[in-house]
This record gives sequence, C-alpha cells and structure tokens, in this order.
Amino acid sequence: MKLAELGEFGLIDRIAQQVAAAPSVPLGIGDDAAALLPTPENLTLITCDMLLEGVHFDLNFCDPHSLGRKSLAVNISDLAAMGAVPRHCLLGIALPAAVPVEFMDGFMTGMLEMAGSFGVTLVGGDTCASKGGIAISITALGEQRPERVLKRSGAKAGDLVYVSGTVGDAAAGLKELRSGRREGFLVSRQLDPTPRVAAGVAVAEAGLASAMIDVSDGVLSDLGHICEMSKVAARVELARLPLSDEYRALCGDDLSLALSGGEDYELLFCVPQGRGEAVEELFGRLGLAVTRVGAIVEGSGIELVAADGSLHQPGARGFDHFG
Ligand code: ADP
Ligand code: MG
Repeated sequence: MKLAELGEFGLIDRIAQQVAAAPSVPLGIGDDAAALLPTPENLTLITCDMLLEGVHFDLNFCDPHSLGRKSLAVNISDLAAMGAVPRHCLLGIALPAAVPVEFMDGFMTGMLEMAGSFGVTLVGGDTCASKGGIAISITALGEQRPERVLKRSGAKAGDLVYVSGTVGDAAAGLKELRSGRREGFLVSRQLDPTPRVAAGVAVAEAGLASAMIDVSDGVLSDLGHICEMSKVAARVELARLPLSDEYRALCGDDLSLALSGGEDYELLFCVPQGRGEAVEELFGRLGLAVTRVGAIVEGSGIELVAADGSLHQPGARGFDHFG
C-alpha cells in the first residue's frame, strides 16, 4: 500500500497508535496542540534538526528503521550537549505520495525505539506530501535546572578540552558506504549514532564543565564554535585524538576525518584545570571512553600540536552546508 491510499489522517492515526501515554503529556497527538507538564524549577531546552533526502541521507545506503533512529538521535544529541534530559519530541515529515506505507512503518519503529530508549515521548508533528524528496524535521525538548545547563560560551584559557568516545568513525563509515560496504562498526557509526545522553547529563549535574558541544560537524568545526562563543583559542594535540581500531585500519595515519569529519555525536567539553581526574572517574563509572585532546588558550582560532610539539594551522574545517 502507498501513502496515497492511506491518506494523511490515516497515517497520523497509525503514528498515534504507536505512541504510549506519558504522565508528562496530559494531551498528546490529536488536538491542535499538545500540552506538556513541565518539571518545576527546570528550564525547557528545545532544538530542531532537519534531514533532507539527498543532503543528509541516501536511501541507497540506509534503511527506514535506521533513518528513524538517526533522525531523533541527532536531536537528542543536541539536548545532551546542553546537559539536558530529553523528554518530548515533534515530528514534521514531508513524503512523496508514492512512498510505501512500510517505509513509514519502518521509520516510525526506529524513531520510537530511539525515543523509548531515552524516555522521550512523541507529542505531535505535521505531515505533508512532498513534490520532491523526503524531508524530516524533528523538534526535541529537554529539561535541566538553569544552573546546570552547559553552553558553548563558558570556556576559559587554561581549561582542558575533552572528547568522549572516538572521532572520525562516522565520516569513515560514509567513505565505506560510498565504496560499496554496507556493514561493520564504521558504517553503523554513520547510520546509527548513539547520543551521549547519560554522559552529557552527568557532566552537567557534576558541575564539571565550563562549555560543551556535540561533535556533529567535526572536532575542528565544533571546537571552533566553542572558541568563537567563548572568545578564546584552542590547541589540539594530534597524537591524543581518540581513534578506533577500525578508523586506523581504514585511514592509517590520516587524521583528516578525525579532525573534520562530522556526525560522530560525541561530546566535546572544556573543564577547568584540576578537574581532569574527576572527569576521568565519572566516565569510568559510565563505561565510556574520554580523552583529553587539548587545551584552551588565550587568542582566537585553533592550532594543532604535532607529536614533536610543533604548531600547525589546520587546513579544511568541518562541514558547512553553504561552504
Ligand atoms: P492541524 O491541521 O491543526 O495542524 P494536523 O492535522 O496537522 O492538525 O495534526 C493533527 C494532529 O496530529 C496534531 O496533534 C499533530 O500534532 C499530530 N501530527 C500530525 N503529523 C504528525 C506526525 N508526523 N507525527 C506526530 N504527530 C503528528
Ligand atoms: Mg498541521
């Protein structure tokens, strides 16, 4: 069956039936607007990301289920980067009428699976026919106490720069997909990223970091955003970049994807000197790797420190849609 036969309202009903009730949602899908119960004394953090067919995803590479997972994961990652607990989301989607209903079923199963694993409830959205490709726009809402929210702007000269997990894997996975590979660790890092929610919330609640961002556009680009917003500079020690064995096997000593590839959705954050041990202890408890990759210094821009201590200017930066 095609969406054209199911119709807009048939599709919305089908989505609504898959969403479980939640105490924080007195009024969910079905009315003109949803109603949410805020947690007292918390700010609402809200973020929106678009995924366009041909720009962000290629249906030759990804199945609808992992597309649904990733579409929500990238939004949840933005909340995690603020230290916020994800709670609710809205789904705007435009689809050609000829898309099979099974595509939407797979997409929703993936998206709601991701939502369920982070305690997120789908509370509404909008559905339209597309004359072009598929367009997805998800808005995610999270909560945190005002004093714990971590912005891009708090980094200070002298801070240590940490990154969770490993970097460059998702871009390496895209390279593999383009050369015909369809599975493996790197491909799964590209198609099915894990937002670092527990880590983001724990860093915020422990009051450890001065600034935080998620690595969506690449380490250089995202650390660059922290530097601009904090009016500081950073040095990145190339030998310290955390790389997976699979990255090394594919890329050898070439660090360009680790520096400038996007979509890892790891956390990059700055910590005042002297709190480094606390960071390592915290991540040890979480069972997630964390690596000090550099430091914040006075000035502007980013410099790379080679293994011999020499300083270099980075070349190409991360992903820029209009670049
Ligand atoms: P309106 O015309 O008033 O905007 P809609 O017919 O677009 O109403 O939506 C009806 C209900 O279905 C609303 O509660 C809306 O939030 C929800 N909804 C529409 N599309 C989606 C979607 N893709 N995912 C989740 N909820 C949706
Ligand atoms: Mg509408």
